[in-house]
Order: sequence, then structure tokens, then C-alpha cells
Amino acid sequence: MEKIINVILRKYSLAEARLIERAFELAQEAHQGQKRDSGEDYLIHPVKVAQILAELNLDYETISAALLHDVLEESFIKSEELEKEFGLNIAFLVQALTKLHRVSYSGEKQYIENFNKMILATAKDIRVVFIKLADKLHNLETLNSYKGDKKKFASEVLEIYAPLASRLGMGEIKGVLEDLAFPYVYPEEYREVVSITQNQIQNNKKYLDQLKPRLESMLKENNISATAITARAKHLYSLWRKLQKYDFNLERIYDLMALRVIVPSVPACYEALGILHKYWQPLPARIKDFIASPKPNGYQSLHTTVFCDHGKITEFQIRTPEMHQNAELGIAAHWTYKTNQNPLAKRFSWLKQLQEWQQQTFSAQEFWESAKIDFFKDRIFVFTPMGDVIDLPEGATPIDFAYSVHTDLGHHCEQAKVNGKIMALDHSLSDGDIVEVVLNKKKSPSRDWLNFVKTSKAKIKIKEFLRSNLKVS
Ligand code: MN
Repeated sequence: MEKIINVILRKYSLAEARLIERAFELAQEAHQGQKRDSGEDYLIHPVKVAQILAELNLDYETISAALLHDVLEESFIKSEELEKEFGLNIAFLVQALTKLHRVSYSGEKQYIENFNKMILATAKDIRVVFIKLADKLHNLETLNSYKGDKKKFASEVLEIYAPLASRLGMGEIKGVLEDLAFPYVYPEEYREVVSITQNQIQNNKKYLDQLKPRLESMLKENNISATAITARAKHLYSLWRKLQKYDFNLERIYDLMALRVIVPSVPACYEALGILHKYWQPLPARIKDFIASPKPNGYQSLHTTVFCDHGKITEFQIRTPEMHQNAELGIAAHWTYKTNQNPLAKRFSWLKQLQEWQQQTFSAQEFWESAKIDFFKDRIFVFTPMGDVIDLPEGATPIDFAYSVHTDLGHHCEQAKVNGKIMALDHSLSDGDIVEVVLNKKKSPSRDWLNFVKTSKAKIKIKEFLRSNLKVS
């Protein structure tokens, strides 16, 4: 364990390392004699959690709080002592994590309670989520020897924590959490996916390994030196979800494996794309420019699928090192920026919104019900006529779109054109639609809209309008 700590300490300044070391010593003291279900010393758990976070390059306060995250639980240590020795920030993080740990309900009520507490805590400090995700990750890795309800534990990860990681742009952690939880929640489906994909994945890997040097020299001939080219396999859980959409026909999944190409700059990304297309015919409608139009969680890359040698369909993902880091770490790569100058602040404004709603009208149950749709449903991205991307839950309607652009646009929405055609106001929008709202200042929201809108924002605003109009009349 000292070895792990020493590796961690090397990443930080002397003063920072001293505090982390002190946190380790206190954790050592607090967990003295405690064992995990596996029989190991309890201390290994906070140390591993700290290690995961140090690998994400998070700051020393996060690392210290991770080491201390369970010390208030069953030991002699008081939170005032933490405050005195480690400062307000670390003490706050540890307290917030302790509260998340103490849950009085089970089943869905437990989710609701946990989710509410977490959103509340993130309003003060987003690092609560980072530590919680690392905590879940290590617990899942060791879930086999856990004596409690394994399936329940893993389900909560699939339902709450993985989607949360995804919405925060933390793609790598999301994928790992899902793949670790998958076999506990859906054991048969897990075996099935493994059995139908294993051969294919292995063959693909061989094929891509052969392709790699060719691609490298191809780029070099055109004066682009790739920083890295790696073959990446799709995570199993997301593969399973995709297979369900495609009748378990593996042939229709083109991104089972992909070659990820990292090049030094944005212009080099486009050049590399051009070079690929010069040699290999691209599949139409499979070229995606997430550099010009990033996904709402911040993801950027160029994607293309081409008919490679012998007509083999192959996906490529091209990005800069910075985009790569963002894709893996999301908000965690940027958290050090103060919120008001955070370049990603707008992208994560939904989090702020969620926190505001929580404080507004909702009961815990109501909040959960609407958050489930706003937050955990698959998202679609639609466009304004000016090309701005609006991020909505699946099944959202033009009214939801109008309200998410501006409250007035919602209130006075008379008609909606979707891709140039007039559509009913309760029409379900699809990914990529261009939506234009026709305003009429004399129009006002109808109660009937509440029957089909999907987003919390639309619901709240319509209800507010109806309520204030009742008062007037
Ligand atoms: Mn823990």
C-alpha cells in the first residue's frame, strides 16, 4: 500500500504531498483492524480510490478527501477535527460523501435519496461526484467478494452513476463502470454478448493491428505524424444496448472496433480525414464532424466509416490529444477553472439547472421523476435554424425545444417547422432535426401541452404561466 501512496505523492508538490500523506496516516489509524468482505485490510479501499483519482490528475484536495472518505463512518474521528487539520474543502467533501453513504431507504427510494443528496452536494463542489464515481469503480472491481446484494449495488451504478459520468463527459469511467456492473445485473445477456462477439472482436483486433502501420505510413507520406494510433473495442455494455436496436445482427454494427487516430492539431484532423477518403471510399452518411459540432457533453472527434481493403468496413476516429483527454475525462479535465470562467460551464449548465429545479417546486419524488427523463433518458441533438445545438431527451416535442431555447419562445409558440415542414406541436423530434418555431405574440400556453411535453423546463414554465393567469382572471 505504501508503494501506491508513493506513486501518488510524486505527482504533487511538496506541501500538497505532505497533506496527502497526513490523510493517509489518519485513514490508517481510523481503519485500523477493519476488514473488507474480501478479508483484506479496509485501508486498501480508500487507497485504491485515491489512486484512481490521481490517475485522472485530480488535485490534492480530492486525493486527500478520497483517502479520508470513509473515516467518519465508524471511527472516533469527528468532522471538526478534519476541518481543523485539512481545511474546509476537504472536510466538506468527506462530510458530503459520508452523508451519501448513510441511506435510510431501499430500492427506488434509495436511488431518489442518493440522487438528491448528490445533486445538492455537487452544487457546492463537483468533486463529490468524482470521488463517488471512483468509489463505485473500486467497489465494483471487488464486488465478487461483497457479502451484500451484488445485483442491487450494480443496478444503482447502471441506473445512476454511469449515466451521471456520461453526462459529465467522463466517457472512459462511464464505459468501465457499465462493463463492470453488466454481468451482475444481466448475467445471461452478458454471457450472450461475450459469446457472439468474442471471435469477431479478436479477428478485428488482428486486422486493425495489421492496418495500423499502413495507416501510419500513409499519413507520413502526406506529412502528418500521428501521435498515437490505437485499436479500441466498443465497451460490452454499450455494444449490448446497440445490438438490441439492431436485432442482434453483428454485421450492422460498424464500430465494434475502431482505429483511433490522434494527430497534433485540428487542421491535421481534417487533412487526415481527407487522406483516408482518398484511399478508401467512405460510407455515405457515416462521416460525423463532432469537431465543428461537438456533442452536448463536449465530445469532439471526426468519425468516418470507410470501405477499407477488400471492402472491409472500418471505422476511424480522428482527434487531437486535447480532444482525447476531454473525451476520456470530460468535466474532470477542467474542473480547476473557476465555475464562472469555465469554458465548459455552458455545456454543463444542465447541472446548474437541475440544482435550481431541486430547490424550486419539486418534492423529492417529483424531482426524481422528471430528472429521470431529463437526465437519464437517451439524448437527441436538434438544431436551431442558426445551427445552434439543442440537447433534449428522446421523445421531446417542438414545445420542449421552444422552451429550452427561450421561455418566451415557448409561451408564444404557434407552429413548428421541422426540417422545413410544418409539424404538430406534439410531434416527437429526432436526432439531427432542424426546428424552427413560428411565434405569435397573441398565443399562450395551453393546459393540453402538459400531456405531451417531456422536459422539466417546459413543464415548470407552462405550469407557472397557467398559475399566474388564474390569479389574474
Ligand atoms: Mn467507499
